Amino acid sequence: MHQDFLPAGIVVLTGAGISKESGIDTFRDKDGLWNRVNLEEVATIEAWHRDKKKVLDFYNDTRKMLRAAHIAPNAAHKALAHLEQKYDGEVTIVTQNIDPLHEQAGSQNVIHMHGRDGEIRCMHCGTVFASDIDLTPQSVCANCKTVGELRPNIVWFGEMPMHMDEINAALERCGLFMAIGTSGEVYPAAGFVLQARRRSHVYTVELNLEPTDNQPLFQEHVYGPATRIVPPYVERVLKRGWPQ
Ligand code: NAD
Repeated sequence: MHQDFLPAGIVVLTGAGISKESGIDTFRDKDGLWNRVNLEEVATIEAWHRDKKKVLDFYNDTRKMLRAAHIAPNAAHKALAHLEQKYDGEVTIVTQNIDPLHEQAGSQNVIHMHGRDGEIRCMHCGTVFASDIDLTPQSVCANCKTVGELRPNIVWFGEMPMHMDEINAALERCGLFMAIGTSGEVYPAAGFVLQARRRSHVYTVELNLEPTDNQPLFQEHVYGPATRIVPPYVERVLKRGWPQ
């Protein structure tokens, strides 16, 4: 098929809100994580240098929470996997979440821009390992043998998100941009809608529990719990596409 006839790509940006009904708390909602933990004490490079044990204990606990038996993909994750299977063009999920629920639902083309649970990185040699073990300030890197430099492979506040070239390329190719369950307060993710809209033919939609500060930047808005609003929206896109 000639490239011009390929259907436009779809980029779906997801945030903590899509996993809320799977039992994982968001950051900024009333019952969110940041109302219980001070982010400066656990999710910055300064926190790491100040108190490695505190940072590592937080992520050891987070990993156990994400692996709890009741945490499973919900109807919104499954609808996006269905979209990827049925849509003729490319579907890219760009998630800010570290949880594996998109993959567990069956999505294949998932970019974890803030890193992912189950990976660690050595700050000394840069090697990334798959790992499910608790880290301590005494943990030893299996590659360079340095002690105390292993950390979760998760992007902390103030650090550069991962895979930005891939994300920018997907945004360049997309005709539909959906943002699901994200407050639009963390950059650069919050700026993707504007980046997508720089190309005039891109259609943008916000699907969230409630309007965010970014609401005026989207052409369409659907509000409610993700499990209720995402499946019918996906069905509509598969049946009728989106306004051109
Ligand atoms: P956020 O907490 O800032 O915002 C969550 C958004 O989801 C809010 O706008 C809220 O109104 C909405 N929301 C809440 N419940 C919802 C539901 N049932 N259905 C639809 N929307 C719902 O989260 P964010 O924008 O993703 O913030 C970015 C940071 O949060 C990222 O760095 C990410 O790594 C981190 N985070 C990830 C997880 C996870 O991996 N599941 C959990 C918490 C935080």
